[in-house]
Amino acid sequence: MLQLNPKAVDPTAAAHLTAQQTDVDGSGSFSDRVERAQGLWDRKTKVAGGAAAFQRIKADLTAMCVGVEICNYCENNEATDVEHIFPKSSFPERTFEWENYILACKTCNTTYKSDDYAVFDPAHSGTIKELTPRDRPRPVPPTDDSAFITPRLEDPLYFLWLDVAGGTFVFSEHPLLTSSREKAKAAYTIKLLQLSDRPALTEARKKAFLFYRDRLRDCAEAEQAKTHTQLARLVAKLEPDHERVDRAKPLRQEQDRVIQAIRRAIQTNAHPTVWHEMKRQRQLVPAIDRWFAQAPAEALTW
Ligand SMILES: [Zn+2]
Repeated sequence: MLQLNPKAVDPTAAAHLTAQQTDVDGSGSFSDRVERAQGLWDRKTKVAGGAAAFQRIKADLTAMCVGVEICNYCENNEATDVEHIFPKSSFPERTFEWENYILACKTCNTTYKSDDYAVFDPAHSGTIKELTPRDRPRPVPPTDDSAFITPRLEDPLYFLWLDVAGGTFVFSEHPLLTSSREKAKAAYTIKLLQLSDRPALTEARKKAFLFYRDRLRDCAEAEQAKTHTQLARLVAKLEPDHERVDRAKPLRQEQDRVIQAIRRAIQTNAHPTVWHEMKRQRQLVPAIDRWFAQAPAEALTW
């Protein structure tokens, strides 16, 4: 998981969200507000102006994704759903809040996260209270101090550590966390999304690691090419959509073009957290450090 770059929502869509939220907020008791929130959400593209507003919202959220329309939680599947970080079943006041939206895949949204959530109770403490929105009457959350990492506002890599150096590719709490509250938040987030218990994800992270390794090696080879022929030999090995080396152009220019194509391949691959952790943990693993040292220095900024 990575933090999303902040982005303002389209102003017309923002006005629509405010109007819908005002409707929810004025709907009586907590249970009534939850019911109203669910009803309006289910009809969000059917109410006046809703279809256009949510088309813009989805486009803005898509532009914010950590990869190409990729789920911001698992980084593995196509992001199909507008997900409420704070679930509307416990936080109806956030049903139409822009900062509470993130694109996620159906599996993360409905199978793992669903309506489950936890807060710190009391607020600002280290004690987690799991909410049980299926209880009736529906319980009012004691606080809104989230025990789940909110990637719209917080940097998940501050809390989490993906084990690249050890090769297990599972998440744990960041080893340098000292506060019990922050450790609890990391652990709860991993547990809620089952980020370390889904074999398909750990396997896919391993494959992503090998992909990034190979691209770094390609970059090094492109950087070190002494002739157009050497560079052409590398390009022939790469993906078929790489343009051929133009022998009429300066070698340096062609090297840069190939390196930028490799950069795009890295930046559009799934599991970007693996890439970020490779950069962060490179000094713990001599091989990773060497791949980066041999690649152009700018790779550390990708
Ligand atoms: Zn997902």
